Amino acid sequence: MTVDPMTVDRPDDRRPLWFFGAIKRTDAEKQLLYPENQTGAFLIRESESQKGDFALSVLDEKVVKHYRIRRLDEGGFFLTQRRTFASLNEFVDYYTKTSNGLCVQLGKPCVKIQVPVPFDLSYKTVDQWEIDRNSVQLLKRLGSGQFGEVWEGLWNNTTSVAVKTLKPGSMDPNDFLREAQIMKSLRHPKLIQLYAVCTLEDPIYIITELMRHGSLQEYLQNDAGTKIHLTQQVDMAAQVASGMAYLESQNYIHRDLAARNVLVGEHNIYKVADFGLARVFKVDNEDIYESKHETKLPVKWTAPEAIRANKFSIKSDVWSFGILLYEIITYGKMPYSGMTGAQVIQMLGQNYRLPQPPNCPPQFYNIMWECWNAEPKERPTFEKLHWKLEDYFETDFSFADTDNFVR
Ligand code: ATP
Repeated sequence: MTVDPMTVDRPDDRRPLWFFGAIKRTDAEKQLLYPENQTGAFLIRESESQKGDFALSVLDEKVVKHYRIRRLDEGGFFLTQRRTFASLNEFVDYYTKTSNGLCVQLGKPCVKIQVPVPFDLSYKTVDQWEIDRNSVQLLKRLGSGQFGEVWEGLWNNTTSVAVKTLKPGSMDPNDFLREAQIMKSLRHPKLIQLYAVCTLEDPIYIITELMRHGSLQEYLQNDAGTKIHLTQQVDMAAQVASGMAYLESQNYIHRDLAARNVLVGEHNIYKVADFGLARVFKVDNEDIYESKHETKLPVKWTAPEAIRANKFSIKSDVWSFGILLYEIITYGKMPYSGMTGAQVIQMLGQNYRLPQPPNCPPQFYNIMWECWNAEPKERPTFEKLHWKLEDYFETDFSFADTDNFVR
């Protein structure tokens, strides 16, 4: 038996360019869909579903196709038993010369896009999160919300950051500081990282990582279905669910999960923002946040038990996540459009739920529906939602069966 020259434990720089290791199917798709790649671009990855197996992902026009590479008991590899190979190198050699049943002949290895990791200000500010406001330069106004403005800024003349400048009186500084302590300790690739604050004078500054494409709500509305399609919509949902699963594991509640509070970075990165802030803000946007008792709530996103009895929990966040899925699939439509908050509350009490939007696949709608179970305990966990969304297309993944190549 020939030993496969490509061993999984080789250091990265000694692996063939086409070997991407244990990356997810969705990440393989993302990488192959970068415009740097052309039809025939391919990679081999370790299969997630079948440990020890490999999968081939190939770009065919604008679609990525996946094939399971099977293993011979004696140690070789094949897609079809008609043609077997002693090593993955031989396998790749062969299919770069002929397609022989593959959707296309293999071309160049997929270009490895290294998503730049911005210099993480939070390490510099671990113990010192109150920073001197003179170290932050405000460069460009990115938007404004009900509590103030958001600016692109530069910290210490080196690091790009987002700076939220808060309207005086929009929160009690002590409440905020208490919450910010916790927010700062929450670290996850799908959560906007709080770097530092300037609270010693007004306006309070909240300094976070910068996300180039702004809020998911506007991003969806601007696209309105031109470039963004189901694969990317499911990916957005999976990334948000991943960030929320982390909050769930930390026993932290968001309280205002909605597309307006998800931010979009480069290379299709989505992150959850503004977690925990709903508790400290004094809200006055009547369109979204309606008065209910003494507090104001984004009624159309809020679970019935949270509206009725102020029972916020990770399960009320799951309800909001269902509404966020609705926003994602409708390209940022207002949920329950034409209805007032009061009407929504009344209708939900009669078991009414948002109907399945046109073009929303039943499988996607089922996930929303589960999030809107009247009984909070019956709603899925974010961990489960995350995996469901990660595996959304996995059910389509029919494996190469003896002589059949498949998508
Ligand atoms: P609300 O005030 O109701 O929470 P909002 O979330 O839209 O509404 P902000 O959080 O103040 O308000 O944000 C205003 C806008 O600024 C956002 O819509 C987004 O486009 C932009 N923005 C906010 N945070 C960032 C960030 N970290 N990076 C880049 N842009 C941001």
